[in-house]
Amino acid sequence: MNERDKMIKTGGTIVMVVAGVNILFAIILLATNPNILSFIVTLAISIALIYGVNWVRWLFIIGGGIGIFTSLITFANLAGLGAPGWLWGILWLTFAISVASVLIIAMNKNVIEFFHNAKHGGREAIENQNAQLRNKVSALENKEAQNVKVPCLLCGEQIPKNSKFCNICGGNIEEKEAENKSIKLEELRQKMGDSAQNDLDLLLSDDNLVKEANSLRRLYGKTSCIAFLNKKAAELGLADLEITEEYYDNIIFERLREL
Ligand SMILES: [Zn+2]
Repeated sequence: MNERDKMIKTGGTIVMVVAGVNILFAIILLATNPNILSFIVTLAISIALIYGVNWVRWLFIIGGGIGIFTSLITFANLAGLGAPGWLWGILWLTFAISVASVLIIAMNKNVIEFFHNAKHGGREAIENQNAQLRNKVSALENKEAQNVKVPCLLCGEQIPKNSKFCNICGGNIEEKEAENKSIKLEELRQKMGDSAQNDLDLLLSDDNLVKEANSLRRLYGKTSCIAFLNKKAAELGLADLEITEEYYDNIIFERLREL
């Protein structure tokens, strides 16, 4: 149990004691001065307090404050009438208990935490549950990713997908991937030919054209972007350039993003 849970539990116990004392006094009062309505109201407020109803807490504090104030007026009146000592004792006792009750419900840190939790507890519980589910899902996804095997680029043995190093030959997979990529890029460049590359450089030297190509790419995807670039290349008389999807994926896409 963490610190906050302890505070909530202590707060709940304190509220229960305060509510219990209030119910007890309501019963005593009912026996001496039968006022059913007042009894039912006190009972309802006490039970609502135990259940952590926050606005009832404020009702209790305000009502208690008014009670304390009226008690003081009663005391002033009784002082003039010369009331007996035992009556004073009972009056002071009830007065002290109501002052303590109001102060505890209004100011005790544990009680405040208890009401705060009762108010937000439901939502927090759902959020916690969601977070736990998300963790479970990502744990499962990780596990699944580990179960997917691909051949090692260096030794050909089956190893978990997205490994950085091969657990069989110890080879650096990331490095090998980067190397393969640059070899593939070089092959593509050779296939494309120098004149086509020069044409591409010319085409991409137009800033406005690049801007337009990028917005087409973002809005409509690569097919529109490729069609646009080929159309512009034809318009500019760049006859050696014919942009294929392969060129786009491996050469142009990176350059468009850079520009
Ligand atoms: Zn290997």
